[in-house]
Amino acid sequence: MAWLLLVYLRLVRRLACLNITGAMRSCPTAALETLLGLTPLHIYIQKEAALSALSLKTVSSLKLMQGNLRGHLEILKDPCLNHLIEIKTDLIPTEYNFNQPYKVIFSSRDDWAKGGPQLKRGALAWYTDALKTVRSGVGMGISGPNSHIKLPLSSDLTIFQEEVLAINFCTALNLQKGQKGASINIFTDSRAALKAIQAYTYGSALIRECTNNLRELARGNDVTLWWVPGHSNIEGNEKADKLAKEAANTPFIGPQPGCGLQKSHLKQIINNWEASKIALRWKELPGHRQTKSMITPSQNKTKEVLCLSKGDLRTLSGYLTGHVPLKYHLFHIGQAEDQTCRLCNDESETAEHILCNCVARGRLRHNVFGKTPLLPTDIKVQDLSTILRFIKDLHLP
Ligand SMILES: [Zn+2]
Repeated sequence: MAWLLLVYLRLVRRLACLNITGAMRSCPTAALETLLGLTPLHIYIQKEAALSALSLKTVSSLKLMQGNLRGHLEILKDPCLNHLIEIKTDLIPTEYNFNQPYKVIFSSRDDWAKGGPQLKRGALAWYTDALKTVRSGVGMGISGPNSHIKLPLSSDLTIFQEEVLAINFCTALNLQKGQKGASINIFTDSRAALKAIQAYTYGSALIRECTNNLRELARGNDVTLWWVPGHSNIEGNEKADKLAKEAANTPFIGPQPGCGLQKSHLKQIINNWEASKIALRWKELPGHRQTKSMITPSQNKTKEVLCLSKGDLRTLSGYLTGHVPLKYHLFHIGQAEDQTCRLCNDESETAEHILCNCVARGRLRHNVFGKTPLLPTDIKVQDLSTILRFIKDLHLP
């Protein structure tokens, strides 16, 4: 029954593609899917299976090994996903966080412009910050009473994880110092980290460790976490930022990753795997000679395509796939008596000939694209609006 469902879904997908693009009924589905950036159904199903297998890995106490990759876990046998079996993740089954003896306060920028919160006399103020840049490395900085700490971190961490790690490190430091009866204030410029700490549910081992430590610290102290605007010349935040920068410029030495990978990172791995499968399938798909020479699967191109009007999309999909009412195509479906180009009376009137090398439109092509003749690969890198301008100026069907 599964194959029947897949056939049915493919039919529905084809109808949707034809309706979105307004392309000729003869236009192949694979070409339209590529133009619209749609994942082929069989790859989409594999991707969902891979995501489900990762979720099972998270919630299951089953120790994953090559030998027990059966049923829903079988997808992880794929050579490109196999390394995920061993990878350390930050994911845990959802837990609740109703007991929050600490406070989280999001002061407004106006409040900070007026000098920020007035802390109690003798209160401790800690500032934490983290940094991740392409040029330098990754690091966190903590500035507090008689403390200036900088720590390089693993490049596999997300900026969110680094910010939480910095807060957690600061909390653990105060626990280590054995603080009792103190007013402890931790400032961070990460709203996302504070929101995760304040949330009533979490699915991250790092958030669990951080909230557990905060809860323990708040047992004997008055603990408040504050949001502080970054890069606003607030002294403590600037010091923490400087320490984080220094840490980021120091090489990280230790096992990779420093803590488990986040869900978003794992999804990115699956997305990259999906993109490579789509590209390989398009490359190995038999036929589609002209479409392949002018279209490659590309998210940027898809964004451009989806911004076009239906009329423009119909024109463009026709010319790029060759399924357009030009004489070559009409001749092959029995609707024209010959296929000779009506403009130059020389070659076959294919979409490729018209777009790339019909001498009768050489001047126009040169004006629009800057050169003539063109290769199909030249069309591939052109803006869609430029291609459409050329097609419209041809005044052909
Ligand atoms: Zn011609």
